[in-house]
Amino acid sequence: MERVLLVLHTEPDGALGKAALESISVARALALEVAAGEWAIGIVGARAIEAGHSVGNCGATRWLAVSGREFGQSRYATDVLAVEAIWRAVNPTLVLAPGTSRWRRAIPGAAFRMGAAIDTHASEVKVLDGQVVLRRWYYRQRIEAIQSRTHRPWCILTEPGTVEPFVASGASVTVESLEVSAPPEVLRTTVEGIQAPPADEQTIRPDAELLFVAGAGWTKKQADGKVHVEEAAQLILEFLRLTKCSLGSSKSLVDMASEGQAVLPFLTHLHQVGQTGSTPRHPKGLATCCHGEEPHVVGWRFIRERRAINLDPNCGWAQGKADVLYVADAFEVMRELNRLLKEKEEATG
Ligand SMILES: Cc1cc2nc3c(=O)[nH]c(=O)nc-3n(C[C@H](O)[C@H](O)[C@H](O)COP(=O)(O)OP(=O)(O)OC[C@H]3O[C@@H](n4cnc5c(N)ncnc54)[C@H](O)[C@@H]3O)c2cc1C
Repeated sequence: MERVLLVLHTEPDGALGKAALESISVARALALEVAAGEWAIGIVGARAIEAGHSVGNCGATRWLAVSGREFGQSRYATDVLAVEAIWRAVNPTLVLAPGTSRWRRAIPGAAFRMGAAIDTHASEVKVLDGQVVLRRWYYRQRIEAIQSRTHRPWCILTEPGTVEPFVASGASVTVESLEVSAPPEVLRTTVEGIQAPPADEQTIRPDAELLFVAGAGWTKKQADGKVHVEEAAQLILEFLRLTKCSLGSSKSLVDMASEGQAVLPFLTHLHQVGQTGSTPRHPKGLATCCHGEEPHVVGWRFIRERRAINLDPNCGWAQGKADVLYVADAFEVMRELNRLLKEKEEATG
């Protein structure tokens, strides 16, 4: 029988994040199959014990916490100490952890210290033919592999956004508080703050319901023989503000900046979706002024409902790549859509 440990960290507000709740779903299901439902949960954070109570209904059979101000922030040296302490207390064979940016830095270090094997980006962890296996993607999400290891301990970082988060409700649980002293040399790095664009300037929103993709057509000559880049920018930004969707782009559009052509200034290569871009995971996607060529559409692999607006009834989206293709002028459609959304916004205050 395996001994399963899930290690989590709190977010800056002291709560457990969505990725942590998702990994609780994974740990619960796995423990049922390989450990008769027994599993330990270890939480690191400034107020880790409170965070434990907040997911008190998760069914873990052992609770551990490393708390204190020095464990509140993301810092490799203190995070590794905390995870190692929890790990030694539980002596697990399988360690699960959410693949957040904080844990992606610290957990491999802890795994190395514990002589563990580690795999990352697992999109599924389950039992197959009596063996624990993980599923993950390679080569820009084109090859999917199912892997297993005989080495124990085995540590697996689960990919955020691949399972439903556990629906937590608070319950009082007995949490073992581990004393971990942080000597001065591990506190040399201090996090002074986080530099991030203001929320309304942040246009890549992985948790959004909708992905809005802008293609190069927005910057091309339109029916009147002129380009309308400023109106395009205004329509797109207004739609983003009204829907809080995430923004993606085709390669052609983001490449234009380096080619000295008319561009949408808020787009960067980070927005690029596709073979040489990202493969986001949103329930719905809307492509506008984008042709829907294969190298772009492979980035839509995980978008469940796909719609596109294109003037060309023979564009790539019409070749079975979209659920719905609106053969229409995206300027007109977005103008009308924004008007309706604004009306709705005003009506609901
Ligand atoms: C090795 C390789 C890797 C690549 N990787 C990627 C990648 O990761 N991501 C990616 O996106 N591409 C990638 N590409 C490029 C890809 O093949 C296409 O060239 C690119 O996606 C085209 O971008 P687009 O559809 O925005 O532009 P275009 O092909 O120029 O299409 C513009 C579209 O806008 C439409 N349009 C114009 N005006 C309007 C309007 N008013 N209303 C509605 N529709 C309108 C036109 O009908 C046209 O279909 C790659 C190519 C190669 C060779």
